[in-house]
Amino acid sequence: MTWKKMTLTGWGRTRRAEVDACRPERGQTAIGLLKGRYDRGILAHGLGRSYGDAPLNDGGNILLTERLNRMVSFDPSDGTLVCEAGVTFDDLLTAFLPRGFLPPTSPGTAFATIGGAIANDVHGKNHDRVGSFGDHVLWLDLILPTGEMARVSPTERPELFAATIGGVGLTGVILHACFRLRRVFSGSVDVRERRMPDLDAFMASLSEARETAGYSVGWIDGMARGGDMGRGILETAETAATDAPAKPSKARAVPIDLPGFTLNPLSINLFNQAYYRRVSAEGRTRTMPIRQFLYPLDAIHHWNRIYGKRGFHQFQAVIPDAEAVAGMRKLLEAISEARAGSFLAVLKTLGGEGRGLLSFPTRGYTLALDFPRRDGVEDLMARLTAIALDHGGRIYLAKDAVLDAASFARMYPKLGDFRHVLDGIDPDRRIQSDLSRRLDIRGVSP
Ligand SMILES: Cc1cc2nc3c(=O)[nH]c(=O)nc-3n(C[C@H](O)[C@H](O)[C@H](O)COP(=O)(O)OP(=O)(O)OC[C@H]3O[C@@H](n4cnc5c(N)ncnc54)[C@H](O)[C@@H]3O)c2cc1C
Repeated sequence: MTWKKMTLTGWGRTRRAEVDACRPERGQTAIGLLKGRYDRGILAHGLGRSYGDAPLNDGGNILLTERLNRMVSFDPSDGTLVCEAGVTFDDLLTAFLPRGFLPPTSPGTAFATIGGAIANDVHGKNHDRVGSFGDHVLWLDLILPTGEMARVSPTERPELFAATIGGVGLTGVILHACFRLRRVFSGSVDVRERRMPDLDAFMASLSEARETAGYSVGWIDGMARGGDMGRGILETAETAATDAPAKPSKARAVPIDLPGFTLNPLSINLFNQAYYRRVSAEGRTRTMPIRQFLYPLDAIHHWNRIYGKRGFHQFQAVIPDAEAVAGMRKLLEAISEARAGSFLAVLKTLGGEGRGLLSFPTRGYTLALDFPRRDGVEDLMARLTAIALDHGGRIYLAKDAVLDAASFARMYPKLGDFRHVLDGIDPDRRIQSDLSRRLDIRGVSP
């Protein structure tokens, strides 16, 4: 296999990595690559939809998984699928939605791979109902850092399985995954949208929706202040009995980096106000294709270019239920005071802990929003991180580029167990990433 010099970035484009990359097409080739020796380690990279440096290895080697994307077997009697880890959610919907099957859960983009979804233990708009992606994995074939193969599951090498779910690629390269698709009777959802006038109303309605709705997600105007703070639109949805009439839809693209000044507090404020007023005070209900509901941002390819060449950060934290009302209020106050927020923030509930030692989910409320990269934004993110920590919360590694090692260690109480597993399978630290070095995930050598 030949290695190619490449520049890779995360989706937020704030972190860059100059790497030697290889794009194997066969599992056997990938196994051979892991047997090599690399001065600065090697790392799997899916489609780079993580915002920060989780999929990067500056100065080191990268194994691009996108061509390891075959469906291996499917049992329509119970939806059990075995596929290679480079298969995307888009591939799954294209192949299986017409047959009446959906992935059990999905992130807010279809352009993420199954390997990436497992390595970040991703959650969707139905976390209270079904948990995160890792909860559905029956087994994995993992290429260990030494190039040996291991089948891992909740019963076969369970500690290694738990380290791989949400393990940000550090236990090796996932080659195959086995999980169950969910039966659905249409490819559409009935969506109800309601205006929420302020944060208290939002939190109360989300707390009800998490018990009753199939899907729920809130869009918050992060620029609103005073009595309007936390206002936005709550969407709840259920699988529809029949399909929405098909409308031809064409994905659009942002062709170039927009100049940084296009996004300023005024333009963002106008957009957010218009979004809020889009839904009448009485609310509305409509049936729409599930792709449109799950992946609203995928309709515009390269939307990350609207933030210009300097890129943007995404902040995402979860705050446990008991502290959520106070914690969310403090976060939104800090964001609206700084006038630094951008388009709609996303507020969702999460139903419980993930299976992975570094899984992000815990039972609580999670807030996610983008910040154009400007002077002072990293200070604001440090303040938000401190608020999250004070309220028992944690930051999502899939979105992060700025967290510090000490805060990370306080947020992830099973880090010691994770390190222990890695010391067992990868004492020479053959797998490395920019994220693992920044957050000192491996810790001091034993
Ligand atoms: C618009 C948008 C919306 C999003 N919405 C959500 C959401 O609602 N919920 C959510 O949880 N996340 C969300 N995300 C984040 C995204 O789902 C995760 O970052 C996901 O991991 C990206 O998958 P990827 O294939 O691009 O992986 P990459 O970003 O390329 O890699 C992510 C991690 O997985 C590891 N990895 C990748 N493939 C393998 C493999 N085969 N074996 C081992 N390790 C591997 C990498 O080393 C890296 O650590 C969103 C991202 C975007 C851009």
